[in-house]
Amino acid sequence: MPSVEIIAIGNELLLGDVLDTNTHWLCRQISALGGRVQRGALIPDDPQAIAETLQAALQREPDLIVLTGGLGPTSDDKTLASVATALGRPLELNQQALAMVRATYERLAARELVHDAELSEVRRKMAYLPRGAEPLHNPVGAAPGVLLREGKTAVVCLPGVPPEMKGIFTTSLQPLLREIFGGGVFLERVLVTDCGDESRLAPIVNRVAAAHPRVYVKSRAQAYRKGRRLRITLSLSGTDPQAVKEAIDAADRDLTAQLAAAGIAVLERVEGG
Ligand code: AMP
Ligand code: MG
Repeated sequence: MPSVEIIAIGNELLLGDVLDTNTHWLCRQISALGGRVQRGALIPDDPQAIAETLQAALQREPDLIVLTGGLGPTSDDKTLASVATALGRPLELNQQALAMVRATYERLAARELVHDAELSEVRRKMAYLPRGAEPLHNPVGAAPGVLLREGKTAVVCLPGVPPEMKGIFTTSLQPLLREIFGGGVFLERVLVTDCGDESRLAPIVNRVAAAHPRVYVKSRAQAYRKGRRLRITLSLSGTDPQAVKEAIDAADRDLTAQLAAAGIAVLERVEGG
């Protein structure tokens, strides 16, 4: 299963000003593609922290590392310079990225969303990429995304602004995602039980998880309240949709039977993924 690490960058995230919704969104996308996010890091706009975190991630050789944040025109956006340092590559003006930035500002100026289309120094900054990088068209904003290859790992840098991050991921990144994930599928099924006591569910969940090691079996804890109905999720990624469904069905049958034997009913099933 392709492995992924996510690095969310931004002082505002660590101050608690902004909730890191990008990591959550990326985790859902990657799971749905049949990949496994093995680690997520939340770090400040600090060159040393960025370089160290990226180097540590590269040593684990995941298939994909996604960084979000810090690609903008302001001087506190340090991601690309830090990535260049971490990879030992110079930061240089990328003509293809410059053409993308130019086209974006011309479009924004024509719509009177910015004052002018001039390629000022701060705008040109967004076209300085580590050597060997491929710029990724940003359908929403100005800063192009960036794709780099380092050993067997693809390193992708995306802007922090959520619609821009999502825009690049769902359009310009599609060829890379097909290459990494192929035709991966993800299936998740939620079983709503009539049991509110997780300690009653735990031994059953543990037994079913041990008997179906490929399926992720998890009871969802909630705050105590009267009438609490705990949920159990079954999920699995794979390349063969039929095999994935059969494995989930088998775990579901086993779980339902063991719950019934303990006097616990399944009230509802919700399919997702
Ligand atoms: P940046 O690309 O770092 O300049 O981020 C621009 C804006 O995007 C920030 O001011 C935040 O409001 C938002 N943002 C950055 N990172 C995230 C994140 N991980 N999750 C949600 N919003 C974010
Ligand atoms: Mg930022």
